[in-house]
Amino acid sequence: MKPGTLSGPAILGDGQGGFALDVIEVDPPGPGEVRIAMAAAGVCHTDHASLRWRGPLVLGHEGAGHVESVGPDVDDLEPGQAVLLNWAIPCGHCFQCRHDGDALCERTHEVDVPRLGTSSAHQGATRWRGRAVVRSFHLGTFASHTVVRREAVTPLPSTLRTDPACILGCAVMTGVGSVVNVAAVGHGDTVAVVGCGGVGLNVIQGARLAGARLIVAIDRLPARLERARDFGATHAVLAGEDEEALIAAVRALSDGRGVDHAFEATGVPALAFLPLRLARNGGQAVQVSGAHGSASLELPQLFWNKRYVTPLYGGCVPSRDFPRLFDWIDNGELELDAQVTHRYPLHALDRAFDDMLSGRSHKGVLRIA
Ligand SMILES: [Zn+2]
Ligand SMILES: [Zn+2]
Repeated sequence: MKPGTLSGPAILGDGQGGFALDVIEVDPPGPGEVRIAMAAAGVCHTDHASLRWRGPLVLGHEGAGHVESVGPDVDDLEPGQAVLLNWAIPCGHCFQCRHDGDALCERTHEVDVPRLGTSSAHQGATRWRGRAVVRSFHLGTFASHTVVRREAVTPLPSTLRTDPACILGCAVMTGVGSVVNVAAVGHGDTVAVVGCGGVGLNVIQGARLAGARLIVAIDRLPARLERARDFGATHAVLAGEDEEALIAAVRALSDGRGVDHAFEATGVPALAFLPLRLARNGGQAVQVSGAHGSASLELPQLFWNKRYVTPLYGGCVPSRDFPRLFDWIDNGELELDAQVTHRYPLHALDRAFDDMLSGRSHKGVLRIA
């Protein structure tokens, strides 16, 4: 083992839908890198999807922990500092990074691919059974340690604990950012949100922060609608089989014309275009969930100056957006603690997935240290 290498537990996906807890080795950080002792990691639908990405793969892309050590040229972080990780790691130099498109950085990718360049820590920095192993979004947060680029790290203020702050780096950023950065919801606007899970609830919070006067929550589960009201929804519509009835209900709440901004946060491909039918003429439909698969569309749904937008990671610019989220939490405008409903040890990921997929949990967190 190289001097300074640490070994510890991690959850690895096998690429075929399975996963297991095993031991990985993590190098000390090289230039521009930081090694993190993970404390807590959020569990997201993307983690479940990543079980079918090419394995073996160290899972997890939401997380927070403490700086364990820093690379030779990293002089603005100290060991022990509590930090948040972000999965869209900007290189700072490409076309997108130079135009506030950090989340679209041209040199990033879902997993470590060194030839793509600068998002990943040095090649072979993480090993399993003696061989280099890739990690989800260059992070692999379901592990005792991870070595990442400095650009993936944001210091946490002393007022925020790593749990629940670990969910800021995906669910919260994606939901709130889609509203305030991408859709640019304005004061007095009207909003509908299809799907009130981990991301949808943060769309609702973002709409409340933006000063929307009408926020219609839509879900199939009555319990989620109740939570949506706690987080700022002004109205709730229980979705059934009848899509026309749902559209009529939203129109009835928005002066008969549809809402200014309709969001989809379900991850269900068949619902990807539903926001177009909930938005007014000249309004916008925002597909937040990044659903994969196919869906069909009658082209007239796009007529009448409607816009269809698919924000990635809420348009996150880490240096601008995370300090703003911290402030909103600090002054009580953004509710964080109540979002996490379930906590699990690292070895209970199967239970966390079950609870997430069945809708029993709203947001689950793995407690690592
Ligand atoms: Zn996620
Ligand atoms: Zn870039």
